[in-house]
Amino acid sequence: MQLTSRSKVVSNKTMTFKERIYLPAIFSGMMITLSHLFKKKVTIQYPEQTRPVSQIYRGQHTLKRDEIGAERCTACGLCAIACPAEAIIMVAAERKKGEEHLYREEKYAAVYEINMLRCIFCGDCEEACPKEAIFLTDRKVDSDYQRKSFIYGKDILVEGIEPDKRVDVSKRETAAVAEFKTHKEYDHNKVLKRNNK
Ligand code: SF4
Ligand code: SF4
Repeated sequence: MQLTSRSKVVSNKTMTFKERIYLPAIFSGMMITLSHLFKKKVTIQYPEQTRPVSQIYRGQHTLKRDEIGAERCTACGLCAIACPAEAIIMVAAERKKGEEHLYREEKYAAVYEINMLRCIFCGDCEEACPKEAIFLTDRKVDSDYQRKSFIYGKDILVEGIEPDKRVDVSKRETAAVAEFKTHKEYDHNKVLKRNNK
């Protein structure tokens, strides 16, 4: 019984003398290699050289603080649920009295880790976050020889509190988000007062 109509006639023709000595084929291959030596190189010497990237490039994450420096993340877990690579884990904790200047919400992430080897930089965590707490940035994840160094904790992810250590993510803001943020009457957009230092 014929299973397919596709067939190929196999040629059993004997090789010519030129084909049997292989030298013309090798020479032809070498000429192709040689021609590439004089072409513009497509590789770059990373990390000494870097390519320009878009302002909304999806690179290393940052966990944002609000205007007074309190961490915005409320450990709701939506980013972890949205993450297709299951790269995010967190441990929630309850904010204590007097910690209002440290954590914006009553619940915060005592532990927040992203496994950068699992992450596929899809940006779903950023989209899922209701608190504008996590953003991807145009920064690259550093290379390393140890797998465990790719587990990024809060010490790496949370942006610095000083003005010059803040990470500017305004370029990632859509027009709809920019419009929403003009409504200062919403709790989300309120600038909280700093009670403690
Ligand atoms: S960018 Fe995508 S894969 Fe990476 S942590 Fe966020 S949701 Fe997960
Ligand atoms: S980063 Fe955003 S989505 Fe993730 S736990 Fe914190 S508040 Fe929730």
